[in-house]
Amino acid sequence: MTPQNIAETASVAYRSALEVIESVEPRIAAATRAELTDQRASLKLIASENYASPAVLLTMSSFLSDKYAEGTIGHRFYAGCQNVDTVESLAAEHARELFGTPYAYVQPHSGIDANLVAFWSILATRVEAPALAEAGVKGVNDLSEDDWEKLRARFGQQRMLGMSLDAGGHLTHGFRPNISGKMFHQRSYGTDPETGLLDYDRVAAAAREFTPLILVAGYSAYPRRVDFAKMREIADEVDATLMVDMAHFAGLVAGKVFTGDEDPVPHAHVVTTTTHKSLRGPRGGLVLATSEYAEAVDKGCPMVLGGPLSHVMAAKAVALAEARRPEFQTYATQIAANAQSLAEGFLKRDAVLVTGGTDNHLVLLDVSAFGLTGRQAESALLDAGVVTNRNSIPQDPNGAWYTSGIRLGTPALTTRGFGHDEFDRVAELIVDVLSQTTADTATSGASSKVKCTTAEGVNDRVRAASAELLDKFPLYPGLEL
Ligand SMILES: *Cc1c(COP(=O)(O)O)cnc(C)c1O
Repeated sequence: MTPQNIAETASVAYRSALEVIESVEPRIAAATRAELTDQRASLKLIASENYASPAVLLTMSSFLSDKYAEGTIGHRFYAGCQNVDTVESLAAEHARELFGTPYAYVQPHSGIDANLVAFWSILATRVEAPALAEAGVKGVNDLSEDDWEKLRARFGQQRMLGMSLDAGGHLTHGFRPNISGKMFHQRSYGTDPETGLLDYDRVAAAAREFTPLILVAGYSAYPRRVDFAKMREIADEVDATLMVDMAHFAGLVAGKVFTGDEDPVPHAHVVTTTTHKSLRGPRGGLVLATSEYAEAVDKGCPMVLGGPLSHVMAAKAVALAEARRPEFQTYATQIAANAQSLAEGFLKRDAVLVTGGTDNHLVLLDVSAFGLTGRQAESALLDAGVVTNRNSIPQDPNGAWYTSGIRLGTPALTTRGFGHDEFDRVAELIVDVLSQTTADTATSGASSKVKCTTAEGVNDRVRAASAELLDKFPLYPGLEL
């Protein structure tokens, strides 16, 4: 089937589904329809979002949802899991083939869940297993109460080194309010204050001083590539486990844009990711691991996770099959090329970018140059129909709530078909809005970081221009509800 045929056929399925839903709770059917309308009508630049294919979306509305399947392939705590076994095996096989890894675990319900499984597998392998061996027993239930208390104390003494939140790290990489920051003694590495770039010598120095059990690499808002071979060298020097969270850039790894030292899979002990960001699958997570950690990861459910979402695992299999096609490499290459076009579009209009540009799928715009906070820029852009999210910049004077940055990503609009000219235009529209927006300095306190006014006529002009762009590249062409 051609994409057009697929969308037309999918229309029938969606319309029928909505009719069935309408008979029970019409407001849910209405909200679902409205979401498609909104997604179609907005310039989506949220770096962590995408548009999954109709095949991926339709796979999720299935009978597989009704089955309990705690445990792992061929080893379930429930009877009658033969079809779930098929689904999970296929998803894991596609993941192994796609990423070239000996082991893949496709059950995590989200990226955060995947990280919890990874933390747990590292603690189980590096802290619990040696303690059991020392005590000469097979499992924790066989430990004496004394040895159990000692092991619990050891769990509490472990250290994690990850990228700081304001440099672009994720809150699960040891941020104090997050459970990772409570499970582990945590320290973070930042970026060079002059260049905004990762400085591997600083990471190495922090690792030598802190000697973490886990060195976490990966980010949500760093606009550059990472040398994972170097990160592995640093981890090896201090006997740390290298965990890479590629939630944001898994699509660029799958699409062979990041290869060699930039591909985390051959270098890390454990790799986690979401499946719904640049990878363009259903909402979910997965874990890739070397054989050393695989056994513990495989016990993710029920030790860390609730029962698997079999319908979502099925959709992961479909999305991973899509990502193994040559078209996906074209898509991933275009994501990175478009980020370049977007960055160039900003720079030639004198906007300020953290690190001065990008070489992945996102740019981080420093909006303090427009006299605005991230919060003001985000809401001014939203009023003009441009959907972005505010984000801290390194050493952000406005903190993590108001911020001084706007994060913009290209995966979603690249799926719609945007190319160089469209992203240049997007930069022009954003600069148009921000340069015509002023902070309300008459207000005081927190309001002064929130309120702002955009000059009259700008929003209408930008909305009309973006509607023109969006009309040229319809979302799910042929799909009519
Ligand atoms: C998005 C993200 C996550 C969390 O993913 P969820 O599916 O929302 O739980 C974890 N780590 C990184 C680096 C991310 O960017």
